[in-house]
Amino acid sequence: GRKFFVGGNWKCNGTTDQVDKIVKILNEGQVPSPDVVEVVVSPPYVFLPVVKSQLRPEFQVAAQNCWVKKGGAFTGEISAEMLVNLGVPSVILGHSERRSLLGESSEFVGDKVAYALAQGLKVIACVGETLEQRESGSTMDVVSAQTKAIAERIKDWTNVVIAYEPVWAIGTGKVATPAQAQEVHAVLRDWLKTNVSPEVAESTRIIYGGSVTAANCKELAGQPDLDGFLVGGASLKLEFIDIINSAT
Ligand code: 13P
Repeated sequence: GRKFFVGGNWKCNGTTDQVDKIVKILNEGQVPSPDVVEVVVSPPYVFLPVVKSQLRPEFQVAAQNCWVKKGGAFTGEISAEMLVNLGVPSVILGHSERRSLLGESSEFVGDKVAYALAQGLKVIACVGETLEQRESGSTMDVVSAQTKAIAERIKDWTNVVIAYEPVWAIGTGKVATPAQAQEVHAVLRDWLKTNVSPEVAESTRIIYGGSVTAANCKELAGQPDLDGFLVGGASLKLEFIDIINSAT
């Protein structure tokens, strides 16, 4: 079976005081054992060392991005090697905010995923359609093309989690219905089955992101092809503990 995965993407939020408070919530929360749910929180780069050192050991940290290749003269960037050096095991790549606001193409995201995996990082790779794309009926084409750009560049999917995050659901309070999420997750799994292998389709976690809350997570978690969540706003609050508990 695929182990349930709950990621908390803090995005560009937090002060040192707020980080202390969130870490306290995480460390005191009653959650299922790590055999049942994998929990990964993703603070901004500058807080990664402190969060990693203070967080309960069964929770992992992830960076929110990294550079596409080896470090060097790339002002403002953080390399995959640096994350490895710091003991940060995972990275989120291709988040829609980076695709839309910072112009990251699917090819660029695919290159990043391949490079990060080659350095030994685990990757949470994000895909998802805009409202316009959904309304024009191109959702499945969009998410398939985004996945294809990754699949063309990697061989081993062991360390990849796919996050399906419809752009229209991110930060809007407009969560996908369980049926809408399940439909896309099933298409993505089928895409992997046809284009990568039945084994990879069966073992790869496909998690949902976009306005996940304590109130809506349970029904979403019950969908057969939904293997967890990537949580934004609610990952900064006590309700993140409830979302982790939706695994059981
Ligand atoms: P929200 O949960 O705030 O909608 O954000 C989702 C997201 O983008 C997680 O990566």
